[in-house]
Amino acid sequence: MPVTAKSWFLVEPKSSLEEREWELPAPGGAEALIEVLGNGLCHTDLGFADGEVRTNHPLPLVLGHEAVGRVLEAGPDFAHLVGKTVVVPAVLPCGDCDLCHAGHGNACPRQKMPGNDIHGAFSSHLLVPAGALQVLDAPGGVDVRHYGVVADAVSTAYQAALRAQVTPEDLVVVVGAGGVGGFAAQICAALGAKVVALDVDEERLALMARHGASATVHTAGKDARAVREEVQRHAKSWGLPSWRTKILECSGHPTAQETAFTLIGRRSTMVQVGFTTAKVTLRLSNLMAFDASVHGTWGCPPEAYPKVFELIAQGKLALEPFVVLRPLREVNAVLDDMRAHRLKRRVVLDPRA
Ligand SMILES: [Zn+2]
Ligand SMILES: [Zn+2]
Repeated sequence: MPVTAKSWFLVEPKSSLEEREWELPAPGGAEALIEVLGNGLCHTDLGFADGEVRTNHPLPLVLGHEAVGRVLEAGPDFAHLVGKTVVVPAVLPCGDCDLCHAGHGNACPRQKMPGNDIHGAFSSHLLVPAGALQVLDAPGGVDVRHYGVVADAVSTAYQAALRAQVTPEDLVVVVGAGGVGGFAAQICAALGAKVVALDVDEERLALMARHGASATVHTAGKDARAVREEVQRHAKSWGLPSWRTKILECSGHPTAQETAFTLIGRRSTMVQVGFTTAKVTLRLSNLMAFDASVHGTWGCPPEAYPKVFELIAQGKLALEPFVVLRPLREVNAVLDDMRAHRLKRRVVLDPRA
């Protein structure tokens, strides 16, 4: 049955989102209609709202790509999902191209991202392709709405750890401990690695010291060389050779990207996780000289989500200290808070509050 949804549309960049009621059609054969329980607010949403990044779908568009919800109705192929609580991956692969078949669905050229390619989850309801939905059977004592952040921030961090092939013998340096970085530090620690978290914000570092980071480096006012020396001191104290260094750049800040690149030593691996439109100047030949590698990472293949759910259920990956709930109707005020750097935690918007 079609449903009347209440959604927040980006009508024009740099103006407030507009709440509108509209009719969502009944789901087609491979689609699911979801009642949204929570949706994490991502920095990319602010990029769209401020016109720094263009959405693939023309405006007006409902933003939001970190959804958890309950399946109300699904096409005949996915009837088994009705009534289930699901996390909607931010990257919904087609499931049927060469990259998808090779297990790289996160890089699928036909992928759909809610709030970018299709209408998103700043909404009471969401209509999405059903093939990649992740059933959440047991939330492990966690408020189910908090799982919104698993759709992107947490799963992206997990995929970054996979990309870096993190092992218990590694030193992982997480650059930028807010948002994705906070989850990356916990995930790498859960995989057995020693984690050093770098950030300009001492409050965030204090939180990381309680969740995943064995050491922290406060980078404000320090040049890249001083930061590198501090990281190397920690590595030495744990007896970890520099060639075991894996660097996850999660801030997307140009200065932090330069710092991260400076940390590359012999056989190091760096993964670029954060996003910026800014350009930085780097000496790529350092990679040659150090036999080092740099990877990008985008989203997370659907097959990896159950492992993330497992880490949460086992208490190895905490969501609650990093998340705060706000009513969806306050979305414009929350975007203002994000613009002014007033948010200390990742916001999950609740459409029913
Ligand atoms: Zn995002
Ligand atoms: Zn595909």
